[in-house]
Amino acid sequence: MERRNFAIIAHIDHGKSTLADRMLELCGAIKTGSGEQLLDTMDLEKERGITIKLNPARMNWTCQGVEYQLNLIDTPGHADFQYEVSRSLSAVEGAILIVDSSQNVQAQTLTHLSVAKQLKKVIIPVINKIDLPHSDRESTEQSIISLLGDDPNFREDDICYVSGKTGEGVDTLLDKIVERIPPASKEISQPARALVFDSFYDSFLGVVAYVSVFSGRFTKNDKLQLMGSKANFGAIDTGYLQVTKFPSEQLQAGEIGYIATGLKRIADCRVGDTIIRQHEVGATPFPGYQPPKPMVFASLFADPDQATALSFAMEKLALNDASLVYQPIRSTALGAGYQIGCLGLLHMEIVKERLEREYNLNVLVTTPRVGYRQDSQHYVEPWATVEVVCPEKFYGPVLDLSTKRRFIFDSVDNIGDRLVMKFQAPMAELITDYYDRLKSITSGYGSLDYQPLDERPVDLVFIDLLLAGEKIDALREPVIRLKAQSWAKERVEKLRDLIPKHNFEISIQAAIDGKIIARADISPMRKDVTAKLYGGDVTRKRKLLEKQKSGKKKMKQIGRVSVPSSVFVELMKNG
Ligand code: GDP
Ligand code: MG
Repeated sequence: MERRNFAIIAHIDHGKSTLADRMLELCGAIKTGSGEQLLDTMDLEKERGITIKLNPARMNWTCQGVEYQLNLIDTPGHADFQYEVSRSLSAVEGAILIVDSSQNVQAQTLTHLSVAKQLKKVIIPVINKIDLPHSDRESTEQSIISLLGDDPNFREDDICYVSGKTGEGVDTLLDKIVERIPPASKEISQPARALVFDSFYDSFLGVVAYVSVFSGRFTKNDKLQLMGSKANFGAIDTGYLQVTKFPSEQLQAGEIGYIATGLKRIADCRVGDTIIRQHEVGATPFPGYQPPKPMVFASLFADPDQATALSFAMEKLALNDASLVYQPIRSTALGAGYQIGCLGLLHMEIVKERLEREYNLNVLVTTPRVGYRQDSQHYVEPWATVEVVCPEKFYGPVLDLSTKRRFIFDSVDNIGDRLVMKFQAPMAELITDYYDRLKSITSGYGSLDYQPLDERPVDLVFIDLLLAGEKIDALREPVIRLKAQSWAKERVEKLRDLIPKHNFEISIQAAIDGKIIARADISPMRKDVTAKLYGGDVTRKRKLLEKQKSGKKKMKQIGRVSVPSSVFVELMKNG
């Protein structure tokens, strides 16, 4: 059978998952009119309207009397999952590039497109959401032409106009896919070789790998190996995906589907790895394999009585998330927790939310920071290349905002009526409020994307916070020396305002290597809560004392000082 394999790429929210659903409907792979987004299967995905996991799906489409099998991979659009997108593109022959005609080209449009071009994929540009009254087809089309003009595969009449919502134009797009995307591999007689483009953990099947088979065939019970991790396994099951898993006897060259490995550790079956038969000599792995690299770090704690539940949850969560790194830590103020490393801020937020939703934990995550490293004498910090896309009139404000945050301006380009501004920037500046500020100064039109670049020296100091002379370990923070003084002042003052008065004076100090650089004091107060209760109503007095005692449960004792847990939450939230 003829096959066409393609990935759907776009900036977040430009309509990938919705369009994928319409395609599946039109091909009869799913029932029509459910209105639900079918490819986003996790609760979190549905609720937040974002795609976290990749979603492959198979369907059949008849074009000019011939039936074709189409395999699509819906990708997550967010920068944190760029590597997964690049592996999905490696798994297919073509890409559908969606641009929302009410938003025009945005930062991730450019990133995904440049990966697709590098991998020499055939790209079908799709102008989406044409049903919207403020849809601007012409300028979106202009942008696409200026982006793809230099691509030898590009033809202007390849551009499709669709609405994923109403379904308009989707049939033409399906025909276009058959016509323009090169047929998938038919090398059945070659040794079996498959690229892993995603994997997840199933309690019955072990790690299940989503694969694209480039040659040969795989069947149940085959003795297989992952070339990168060297893990051996017997295929417990093989099949394809169409919202849910469909077992099939075999998976052959040109097909996209799954192989259940029975492996217990997702780390043994990472995205980008190559599956072959055991003992096969001379097989070459697919190029571009990269182990996941955490970019953003934080400490994570649950309520003290949830310590066991937290360690169980972390283990379970990590089973399904090969990019999450974690190790146990202990803080005097916050108890047992974990140091976690994530791909980016969205990834970190997802980890936190999943712990809360799926495991009912009350989770506190400290202010995210980048991975500083000590390199012989000095500290180094990660840098990234940054692309900002915005309408022309915001050039000045964006330049101003960026250079105030240690960004180095590289270049500016035009794409239609949009600007693409390129910078080099410290990751540390990117993960604070840069994105929010960018959105606000561009009235929501600005978007940004980044790629890790290198590490550069940074003049870093570690600031300790002391409460009545006692160090609070959870609040030790690396800060750039230039900003240390103002940062320390702000912190001690904030702590002063958050901690309730005690019956003795409390000093709050910030120190670098034992040297105090800022101080604020909380004046003493004799807090006799029963004083205003005239006379001797004993029961009322006792009730009040009990209430006070239960209030104390949410207090942390740091030396002589009782600090409400909410103080840490407040402080860490707004770092
Ligand atoms: P993704 O992040 O690229 O997967 O985008 P989604 O498919 O989740 O869509 C993002 C939002 O745009 C959702 O609220 C969709 O309902 C909406 N949307 C998607 N396609 C269309 C369309 O063709 N027309 C309109 N009006 N809305 C759309
Ligand atoms: Mg989506």
